[in-house]
Amino acid sequence: MQFKLFLTFKYWYSMQLYNKLSAKERAELIQEAGKDRLTLSFYKYAKIGNPRIFRNHLFINWDQMEVLGRIYVANEGINAQLSLPADRFDEFKNHLDSITFLENVRLNIAIEHDNMAFLKLKVKIKNKIVADGLNDHTFDVRNKGIHVNAETFNELIDDENTILVDMRNHYESEIGHFKGAMTPDVDTFRDSLPIIEEDIKAHKEEKKLVMYCTGGIRCEKASAYFKHKGFKNVYQLEGGIIEYTRQVNNKNLENKFVGKNFVFDQRRGERISEDVIAHCHQCGQPCDTHVNCANEACHLLFIQCEDCKTDMDNCCSTKCQEVHSLPYEKQKELRKGQGNSNDIFKKGRSEVLKYKKDLK
Ligand SMILES: [Zn+2]
Ligand SMILES: [Zn+2]
Repeated sequence: MQFKLFLTFKYWYSMQLYNKLSAKERAELIQEAGKDRLTLSFYKYAKIGNPRIFRNHLFINWDQMEVLGRIYVANEGINAQLSLPADRFDEFKNHLDSITFLENVRLNIAIEHDNMAFLKLKVKIKNKIVADGLNDHTFDVRNKGIHVNAETFNELIDDENTILVDMRNHYESEIGHFKGAMTPDVDTFRDSLPIIEEDIKAHKEEKKLVMYCTGGIRCEKASAYFKHKGFKNVYQLEGGIIEYTRQVNNKNLENKFVGKNFVFDQRRGERISEDVIAHCHQCGQPCDTHVNCANEACHLLFIQCEDCKTDMDNCCSTKCQEVHSLPYEKQKELRKGQGNSNDIFKKGRSEVLKYKKDLK
């Protein structure tokens, strides 16, 4: 009996709570289904007593709705980026509404969709839903900045008394940002806070500090942090660049964002204005297409134009090109014992990228 129970448990555990398919199998299924998928994101700070139970609840329900994506669950809340078949949206929305703290949560729905944006459903338990490096017990995280919509945001950034700060990382603001924004040259959100504070600390009292990020989540903590540090007038763009763009289009407002909005899925970026403000990191010509180096041992995130893509076989350097041209088994052998040198979204910098260095 006990043995049987164990088997049942094992079956349930392996079949329901984790991915059954590889990315390749999933891609084929999506292709075969031929259904349009929606890409969306949302987050919510809320007290979650048992993240594991919550995580499993989400996985079981969303897996059967064919939801794919990357979802972080922590004691402090949830941060989700995902895609699902468009015709299952109502079902998904009803499920969200059945969870008290997610009822009517704002969903940031992408402008450009890619059916292959996500190929697995990963619901991970984390210490925090954003790696901010902050000790939340040292300040009041609920004392946030004032949320503003696109219209008010436009007015604020026209104001001479405003300091506009981009809370994202260098590779994100490089391909697109609001006109006149400070774009800190940082690799992580954690690094950006003290750097920004140092740059603008003389204006704590009299200036308006206005901040924005991709979907608003980073500003939720950052605005409270800057208020704690003594900034008197702190504002944040509600719903970030994604929601701003939606409002600009719906209400026919002036768009003050130039270039592309970097996103953390296979699409890499959504075009917001026709301006191409970045350059190919290899030849310097105007380009804002992020790629990952094709050498799996490198995987560096960088900007590459079509010409260089062809010349370099999708690689960041001749060294990677050589490795990439070897038989797969040989490549695997070379990789043995060496960790992945560049995590996908982390670096975006390398000595081999001539034009990235020049731009710094
Ligand atoms: Zn190029
Ligand atoms: Zn490389």
